[in-house]
Amino acid sequence: RPVIELNEVTKSYPGGVHALRSVDLTVDEGELIAIVGPSGSGKSTMLNLIGTLDRPTSGTVRIDGHDVAALSDRQLSALRARRIGFVFQSFHLAPGRDAVTNVADGLLYAGLPQRERERHAEKALVRVGLGDRLKHRPHQLSGGERQRVAVARAVAGDPAVLLADEPTGNLDSASGAGVMDLLRELNTSGTTVLVITHDHEIAGSLPRQVPMLDGQVV
Ligand code: ADP
Ligand code: ADP
Repeated sequence: RPVIELNEVTKSYPGGVHALRSVDLTVDEGELIAIVGPSGSGKSTMLNLIGTLDRPTSGTVRIDGHDVAALSDRQLSALRARRIGFVFQSFHLAPGRDAVTNVADGLLYAGLPQRERERHAEKALVRVGLGDRLKHRPHQLSGGERQRVAVARAVAGDPAVLLADEPTGNLDSASGAGVMDLLRELNTSGTTVLVITHDHEIAGSLPRQVPMLDGQVV
């Protein structure tokens, strides 16, 4: 079953930059895939389209079976909140809030009472190996641990796909390898994972690579 389908997708920005040129991509449920390419090749543009943060100039984007063009902005944010988990290079955690609260806040759209959100958050933190860091705030955690909190937040609501944008970009190589191991583990237990990276070594460690150059899949 396809979770992500891009069909002849183009994206042009004002000023005439053709960031994506007729891109086709299908990602099936349960895949672990790397989008790899140098700076400027269109990776972030592709992530924004797959993450439904932006719409294509032409072509179709289907996420979890939904044609993005057919949805209103409001329906799109609901789809994004329920079905897509995001992990960023710079963690994006709230500094004053402990690990449980950071993860529970990611479930605000799920319509659960606070206590239930916290219960799901604790489970997700245990799952990423941070069961002994529940009450730590970001500044009390190492970089690798912060990124694990971010991964826990991204998967706590059981998304159809986890999108990770340079997830090891701010980490030393040991912590980075730990985060990649974690993504592999989550994939083994069923989560579809898409990693964006410029690093060919990281991409090569994953079962499928989609190489990008100059707005095209090569
Ligand atoms: P990557 O993530 O691989 O570095 P991007 O998707 O960020 O690639 O960029 C692809 C191309 O689109 C680049 O030429 C970039 O300068 C251009 N671009 C990206 N975002 C914008 C934007 N908001 N406005 C105009 N040009 C953009
Ligand atoms: P690294 O060497 O990976 O950067 P740190 O030296 O920052 O790691 O942290 C080592 C361990 O100590 C981590 O597990 C972290 O959770 C814990 N730690 C770091 N700072 C604090 C703090 N202020 N309060 C509580 N625990 C902390």
